[in-house]
Amino acid sequence: MPEGDTIHNAALRVGTALVGAEIVEIATPQPRHGADRWPERLAGRAVRAVDAHGKHLLVRFEGDLTLHSHLRMGGKWGVYARGRRWTRAARRAWLVVRTRDHDVVQFDGPLLELLTDSRTRFDRLLAGLGPDVVADGDFDEVAFLRRLREDDQTRPIGEALLDQRNVAGIGNIWKSEGCFAAGLDPWRRTADVTDAEACAVVRAVRPLMRESARRGGPTVTFQGEPNPAAAVARAVAGDGPTLQLDRPLPGAGRPAPEATRRIVGGRPPTILQTAPRRSADPGAPSRRPDDRDRRAGTFVYERGGLPCRVCSTPIRARGQGDDNRTTYWCPTCQR
Ligand SMILES: [Zn+2]
Repeated sequence: MPEGDTIHNAALRVGTALVGAEIVEIATPQPRHGADRWPERLAGRAVRAVDAHGKHLLVRFEGDLTLHSHLRMGGKWGVYARGRRWTRAARRAWLVVRTRDHDVVQFDGPLLELLTDSRTRFDRLLAGLGPDVVADGDFDEVAFLRRLREDDQTRPIGEALLDQRNVAGIGNIWKSEGCFAAGLDPWRRTADVTDAEACAVVRAVRPLMRESARRGGPTVTFQGEPNPAAAVARAVAGDGPTLQLDRPLPGAGRPAPEATRRIVGGRPPTILQTAPRRSADPGAPSRRPDDRDRRAGTFVYERGGLPCRVCSTPIRARGQGDDNRTTYWCPTCQR
C-alpha cells in the first residue's frame, strides 16, 4: 500500500504537471464514473493546487471543486510526458488529465470522488485524520499524543500507529521500521508505551519519509549503517547512498542471464546496483524498487527470518490488527 511519503511525492509530481498548465482534456474511462460528467463539470477550470494529507491526495480546481483520491492497496498516480508509454494498461485508468505536455493518470482507483471544497473540509474521513507525518512545518506531537491516548489503550502500539486518525501517513513499512528505530516492540500495549517512546517512532520516520517524498522512493532506512540512529541521521544529512546492498548481486554490471532476470522481476540486475548519490543528478527519475531492493534497504521490513542487522537475532514476522498486516520486529532490539 502506498504510504504517506509516496502520496506526497505523487502530489508533488501531479502538481508540477497540472498547476499553471492549460488542461486540454479530462477523461474518466472507469465505467463507475461514466455518469458523473466530471469532464463537463471540470471543463475550463485550472488546477489551483495539488496537496496530500496522509495517504489522501487532493487535486483542487478553480471554482471550489476538488478531486479526492485514496489509492488503498494497489492504486497509482502516473505522470507521463505526452506521447510516452504509460506504465500500466490504459484499461486500468480511472482518470486521465491531459495538458499540452503531460498525461496525468490515476490507475486502479479505488477511491476517487469529486467534492466541493466545503465538503472536503467536513468530510468525516478527511476531517478525522491525525497530524500528517510528512507535512511541512512542525509535526504536532501534542495532537498526536492526545489522539493516541484517546484511542483504545489495549491495542498494540504497532496497530495504533497504522490508524490514520492517530497519525496520518504511516503504513506498514514505516510502522515496522519506525518501531525498530525507536527500539519499541510493536506488540506492546499502547498503555504501556510512554509518550516519549511513541514520539520517538514519529521522530525517526518523519525525516526519512520527507526525504523519500522529495526524492520519490525507494523506501530505505538501513544505509549500510547498522546503528539505526546513525542511519537516520545520515539519511537526513543526505550524505549516504540512497540505496545500499549487503553485497553485489550475482552478475551485477553484466547482461543478466535468463535465470537472474526472472529472480529480479524481469529487469537486468545492473539496476539493483547501489544507486548514485542524490547530488549526482537531482532531476533524474527515481528508481522503482522491487522486493529485493526493499529488503536490502530496510532494517526489518520484509526481512522475516533474516538476521537482525544490529544483533543477528532472526527477525520475526506476524500479522497484526484487523487487516492482519504483517509486522516485522527484532525480539532482542525491541522491547
Ligand atoms: Zn536485533
